[in-house]
Amino acid sequence: MLHLNNHPSGRHFLQIPGPSPVPDRILRAISYPTIDHRGPEFADLGKACLLGMQKIFKTQHPVVIYPASGTGAWEAALVNVLSAGDTVLMFETGHFASLWQKMATRLGLKPEFIGAAANDDTGLPANWRRGVQADQIEARLKADAGHQIKAVCVVHNETSTGVTSDIAAVRRAMDAARHPALLLVDTISGLASADYRHDEWGVDVTVSGSQKGLMLPPGISFNALSPKAIAASKTSTLPKSFWAWDEMLEVNHTGYFPYTPSTQLLYGLAEALEMIQGEGLDVVFARHQRLAAATRAAVNAWDLPIQCADPAVYSPVLTGVITPVGVDADGLRRLIHSRFDLSLGTGLGKVKGRMFRMGHLGDCNDLTLMAMLSGVEMGLKLSGIRLQASGVQAAMDHLSSHVPAQALAKAA
Ligand SMILES: *Cc1c(COP(=O)(O)O)cnc(C)c1O
Repeated sequence: MLHLNNHPSGRHFLQIPGPSPVPDRILRAISYPTIDHRGPEFADLGKACLLGMQKIFKTQHPVVIYPASGTGAWEAALVNVLSAGDTVLMFETGHFASLWQKMATRLGLKPEFIGAAANDDTGLPANWRRGVQADQIEARLKADAGHQIKAVCVVHNETSTGVTSDIAAVRRAMDAARHPALLLVDTISGLASADYRHDEWGVDVTVSGSQKGLMLPPGISFNALSPKAIAASKTSTLPKSFWAWDEMLEVNHTGYFPYTPSTQLLYGLAEALEMIQGEGLDVVFARHQRLAAATRAAVNAWDLPIQCADPAVYSPVLTGVITPVGVDADGLRRLIHSRFDLSLGTGLGKVKGRMFRMGHLGDCNDLTLMAMLSGVEMGLKLSGIRLQASGVQAAMDHLSSHVPAQALAKAA
């Protein structure tokens, strides 16, 4: 065991935007003994998970569960609906969009990557500070009269930046261009934290994972499908076997899987679904928005720039903070980790060393948030950064003057 001879007292504060802390209830559920995945009890578990996930994605159509990290479900989305050499339109919103684009290239697709813009006055890429610009997608699709573009791929919650993208606006742009491309969306870190509507937004494949809003350990991931995506999978020619939807869908309606599923994580998922449905999905979203607003109140009081430059698309899941020029954000993170046993997210890719990320997703409440903000404020001061005012005080003021949705619901 790590730290066996030097166990830190109290809980570790895992405030990275995924993996997020796993609640005790879920840890206990995961510890149940493994059962026969072809036996009679398993079907109930399988069905509960598959039906429950449809509610989370807000879809009437099938959801596929893979024993893989989110990256596997990215690959599944691409190989099930596309063919070698297909052009796909992607948008550079941050590091995860860039990784998905790299994967598309490796799979033999031709990704067109919109959005690599110049740096702004903070020295960060401008498009890593705002969401997808749907008008640019519309213009590109309108120019594609021959319909060479087979799919539009966008990230809903860019975990590397703390910026969300308006998926309904992307759908409207595609409809306005009267373009038949499929819409593929990564909401690996947005699901069960930020409002998401697979059917209503006309998404063809939504990709998600277990270790962010769903509060599970890493290890399982999801594709939510549309009838159009299922139809495309019948003619797509990219090689697929493990990721192929056809055998999954054939077996899943009985509650079983074509190969050994991750039984323990499905126990955890069934528990997580109960917790989320019990709280109410809308209350979960409101809780995330409220904690995110309190976090931004703290960052504003510190007078540090929030990475997301457009208030309309602030992420409810995490907040990216740009450190002053000359302050290495990773050095700050290391200091905070060693002094306060608090893990913050690192700057990824083009923003490495220039920013850090505070996660406020999943199993997080007012006092979890205040502990994190206290650790960050102490770390900023220890690093010699002169703070305008106390962010901790500003966040407390925000939380005490904004009643949580749950309390409102109870009072009603
Ligand atoms: C975490 C994440 C991924 C990668 O998922 P893994 O589980 O690490 O494979 C991809 N996209 C986004 C937006 C993410 O947050």
